[in-house]
Amino acid sequence: MRTVYLNGSFIPENTAKISIFDRGFLMSDGVYEVTSVINKKLIDFAGHFSRLERSLSELDMSTPVTKQALLSVHRTLIDKNKINHGLIYLQITRGSAGDRDFVFPDPKKTPQTVVMFSQKKENLIDSPEAKSGIKVISIEDRRWGRRDIKTTQLLYPSLGKMMAKKVHADDAWMVEDGYVTEGTSNNAYIIKNGKIITRAKSFAILHGITRTSVLRFAKEAQMELEERKFSIDEAIDADEAFITSASSFVTPVINIDGKNISDGSPGPMTQRLREIYLDESIKTAI
Ligand code: PMP
Repeated sequence: MRTVYLNGSFIPENTAKISIFDRGFLMSDGVYEVTSVINKKLIDFAGHFSRLERSLSELDMSTPVTKQALLSVHRTLIDKNKINHGLIYLQITRGSAGDRDFVFPDPKKTPQTVVMFSQKKENLIDSPEAKSGIKVISIEDRRWGRRDIKTTQLLYPSLGKMMAKKVHADDAWMVEDGYVTEGTSNNAYIIKNGKIITRAKSFAILHGITRTSVLRFAKEAQMELEERKFSIDEAIDADEAFITSASSFVTPVINIDGKNISDGSPGPMTQRLREIYLDESIKTAI
């Protein structure tokens, strides 16, 4: 049985309980982060912590733990649960005011709920998707307008994933006003004539921590970059396509809406980017 973290304590998962009045449960009034663990070490921890602070502050919440304290909780979970490769999930909600009300409770009287747990994933690096690439479908982006805040409102992305599974695809790329925003749980990219193209940061997409690192490494490796919108038609006509996220790193996309990208196998630049990302981020893992 896993040991999880709840509001300051490390306890067995089956004894971790939160109130039915928790605003995370009643209103999805909470944010989350996911950090990957490779060889017992955390990848891009500083980036995930900064985004957490930003998500909380955009929702008028304070950050209830220091960076150092949070790092220590991550490390304890890795230790207690013997995680070699896997993921650490964190959720912070506005807590439970003991009643249901749209108005935010007074934060001095209502402490936030902090939950953290680990998930083992021994094949995090050697995943089948990394080797074969994934197939995506395109769907309308019907999420709310502040996707830059990492909230726990994950119902539409979850529905999108199910729409993909129904037609034997792996994921969905969401489209708004004719242009791809992002994947259900990842950022989306294409490569054309040696240039990496991905949507610029805005309210429309989550500012992926893996995205920031991958773009920095690509620049350092003198690869050409362009941050702009692209359509599904342009993606199908691209030389390569891929996604990034903390749990998939850099993963090739080989087919969109049933149409192969190039010859339908993972592209060389995508594979190179995955290698660079893994090499560099393992070096700086903490
Ligand atoms: N976009 C969305 C909608 C996501 O859910 C995620 C992963 N949580 C990402 C992008 C990738 O972000 P990161 O690289 O920080 O995991």
